[in-house]
Amino acid sequence: MNHANNDDHLLVFVVKSRRGKADYRVDLSDWNGHGACDCPHFLCKLQPKIRNGDRGRHLMCYHIKEARDLLADNVIAKIIESETEEPQF
Ligand SMILES: [Zn+2]
Repeated sequence: MNHANNDDHLLVFVVKSRRGKADYRVDLSDWNGHGACDCPHFLCKLQPKIRNGDRGRHLMCYHIKEARDLLADNVIAKIIESETEEPQF
């Protein structure tokens, strides 16, 4: 994992911008699980609509989608790991 990493919380990710010039902090627990990002696009364009009650994938910026993919990768890896563990007796 080289372009994002877990912060202090399982649902917090640091995601690099598409051009790699900035890091954005994504908290997937914000807005009741929709997720929030500190990039300008989310803060200026998307969050005001979420504040009005709109939800949906079209209101997730690139970084939130990346963080959700990373979360899925982590969960899938954990499930595979737990399924391949030797039974403990
Ligand atoms: Zn963003």
